[in-house]
Amino acid sequence: MNSAINKLLNYSRLEARRGFDNRAVVGGLQKMLDPWEAEARETQLSETIILLVTARLRDYPRLSEGSREEILRGLWNRIEQEIPELKGAYSGEAVAPAPAPDPTPPPPPVPEPAKEPSAESSKPAAPSIEAARPDSPEESQPIEDMPAATRPETPTEPPEPLSALNAPLTTISGIGPRSATTLKKLNLETLGDLLWHLPRRYDDYSQLKTINRLWYGEEVTIIATVDKIIVRKARGGKMQIIEAVVSDGTGSIRATWFNQQWITKQLSAGKAVVLSGTIDQYLGKLVMKSPEWELLERENLHTNRIVPVYPLTAGIGQKWLRKVIYAVVDRFARRLEDPLPESVRASAEVVPLQVALQQVHFPDSWEQLQRAQQRLSFEELFLLQLGVVRQKREWEALETNPMPVSDEWLDTFKASLPYELTRAQSTVLSDIRTDLAAARPMNRLLEGDVGSGKTVVAATAIAITAANHAQSAIMAPTSILAEQHYQTLKKLLPDGAGIPSESIRLLVGGTPESEKQEIREGLANGQIHVVIGTHALLEDPVTFDRLGLVIIDEQHRFGVEQRARLRAKGNNPNLMVMTATPIPRSLALTIYGDLDLSIIDEMPPGRMPVETHIFLPSERLRAHNFIIHQLQAGHQAFIIFPLVEESEKVEAKAAVDEHEKLQEGIFKPYRLGLLHGRMKTEEKDEIMEQFRRHELDVLVSTSVVEVGVDIPDATVILIEGANRFGLAQLHQFRGRVGRGDSQSYCLLIPDSDDAAENKRLEAMESTTDGFRLAELDLDQRGPGDFLGTRQSGYLELKAARLSDVNMIEKARREASRLFEADPELQHADHQNIAQSLERFWSSAQGDIS
Ligand code: ADP
Ligand code: MG
Repeated sequence: MNSAINKLLNYSRLEARRGFDNRAVVGGLQKMLDPWEAEARETQLSETIILLVTARLRDYPRLSEGSREEILRGLWNRIEQEIPELKGAYSGEAVAPAPAPDPTPPPPPVPEPAKEPSAESSKPAAPSIEAARPDSPEESQPIEDMPAATRPETPTEPPEPLSALNAPLTTISGIGPRSATTLKKLNLETLGDLLWHLPRRYDDYSQLKTINRLWYGEEVTIIATVDKIIVRKARGGKMQIIEAVVSDGTGSIRATWFNQQWITKQLSAGKAVVLSGTIDQYLGKLVMKSPEWELLERENLHTNRIVPVYPLTAGIGQKWLRKVIYAVVDRFARRLEDPLPESVRASAEVVPLQVALQQVHFPDSWEQLQRAQQRLSFEELFLLQLGVVRQKREWEALETNPMPVSDEWLDTFKASLPYELTRAQSTVLSDIRTDLAAARPMNRLLEGDVGSGKTVVAATAIAITAANHAQSAIMAPTSILAEQHYQTLKKLLPDGAGIPSESIRLLVGGTPESEKQEIREGLANGQIHVVIGTHALLEDPVTFDRLGLVIIDEQHRFGVEQRARLRAKGNNPNLMVMTATPIPRSLALTIYGDLDLSIIDEMPPGRMPVETHIFLPSERLRAHNFIIHQLQAGHQAFIIFPLVEESEKVEAKAAVDEHEKLQEGIFKPYRLGLLHGRMKTEEKDEIMEQFRRHELDVLVSTSVVEVGVDIPDATVILIEGANRFGLAQLHQFRGRVGRGDSQSYCLLIPDSDDAAENKRLEAMESTTDGFRLAELDLDQRGPGDFLGTRQSGYLELKAARLSDVNMIEKARREASRLFEADPELQHADHQNIAQSLERFWSSAQGDIS
């Protein structure tokens, strides 16, 4: 057995026998880990295991005995996967596992009735708008004014036209000019706004839980009294942790918040509080991390119902707002006309608007609430899809010159390629070939994870275009990338395909003016077949003789207007957008919903997934040693620094300093290059070239290296300040390595130890599937990262989630059907939806993809 593994095994067994007291070696495990790592490496133990051991055991001294037991067991399970002969070598028999808690859920405890009902609550309930006194938000009537359940009644009053919703808030007698001004801060200006001001959560006062009945992982609302509340400093005083212990007579639980010291002013000891959130675990104890909270309003207890909790702003009380919304819902919801045509409602199986609005604000049950939310969500997504589908139909009505090729031609071209296309590449290519051969312009989004081989697909599309005597333009986000495409395309497009090498040209910012002039002429007279460049291709006074194909690479997002301008450069040229940001299908259907979608969901053969590991800042040396180990094996490495300030100048300086420190320090024997955003294009290109030619061992870079660059010898990428990057970006960085034949690694170092407990970094460790990560990103952070600010209209969706793929597909089906039945939405039954559509898209600025 490998001597390091043997040591680890002996140590683990001894720990188990001692009950995991971290004294199997004198001074604790921490004394042993560094020498162990050195020995492990010397004895050629696999890097995977070394990383596993060091990563899993670094927290060992700080853990409880129970957690130590779990960690060791988990570690050995993993080691056994790597070295099957070790199966059963470690059996951590020690402390018997704690008995499992009783699995039957307890009956809901009944909250004690309040002993002194407030004076108002004995008044007979009479829900009316007038009950809310003007301009006295905090002195409003208690919630008992609400009936226990609001039932949709058959409208006896005449229906309100949709335009009634545009009436200002002051038409409600409870709201005067002052309250209206305050409500404006929440973007609430009309009755419609108020109806669509949806609760951010609901407290179910009919189903409260006591603290002794809480389960790990469940989402609950509890009522408790604050026993004590303190502020602790962490991270050398940079962070404050507010820690409250609350109890309810059955038990107590800790709740924590970060950097919100003001909470201690409101939540002092003795206060009764409602806490809502997920029950988490910390060192074996149940805790609530950053729960939502509110001081207890005794009246809520009486309602015995699901109570809406609204987003607020300073100067507005929850009770008051609840009451105002109640009045508006009561008065208007039942009488509104439903914009969804009856046929759509029936086929989508959604409840009428009237019911949905009542139930979303004052649900009678969780089930009714869910149906209400689904209906409102469907309506928004339906409007979104109507806009997108209408746009798509408009593109499809355009005409262009068909560009067919024969099977023989395509086979010959494929045979000239240096490798065989993957199944996914071939499928996508046949989509594209069909598009190009059609008399309507191609409008296609090509999605494929980093390294999936989009470039060769682009090359083939270009070749087909050239075979039809038309020109192609390819746009990349940076000149480095344009340069790389230029080199690749020159190799992939042989003279045989009818594209002389000199008719492929590169046009970037750094191209000398005389050459630019010459390229512009060549494009205008048709001598240049293919031009590769940056955004400048669009802005510059570039004209084409016969532009047949425009390819946009990597996360450029174009608005409808920009697309129209592109089209104007040719006779409705074919358009292909390539993106390496895996976009969840749900989003692709929305932000790129007017494009057809092709996905390369397969990697070229022989790729090994990149292994990812989180290192603490204190372990940087270990990470650097790891890199050196890779360099010694003849590989190359990236070290990435985040954009620390919003200024390229500061960023550049940080990168310069780090580069110098590393070059003079641990990496002295190696050749380090530096890349940052302040460098001139030629300098950047020069460094990149050197790195590609392996004249540099390590590239220290800011995030400019992000996209597309292909370095087969690079096997490790270290990302500093990893917690600052989004998942999509981290995944892009990781895609810089793993392009050759060797196992590659991605090392993530967060800014601080605390930042290591980061869902995103953990997700990076656990999967290399870009689409999976993208979905996580969308779930965790919402669509903001996927949508540029230009698309902020999408962020104003109130009920819908852009990650709800089923609902989006349903909305799209219904939208297509509606247009098929009534292309101009002229039918009398469709007037309401046509109006809503105009309103929806004008407020979203009509800006898609
Ligand atoms: P991306 O989709 O990120 O743009 P590239 O087009 O740069 O990916 O391709 C990544 C690498 O994979 C390149 O080195 C390319 O030569 C190689 N490659 C692409 N397709 C294949 C294939 N079918 N078989 C083998 N290697 C391929
Ligand atoms: Mg690429």
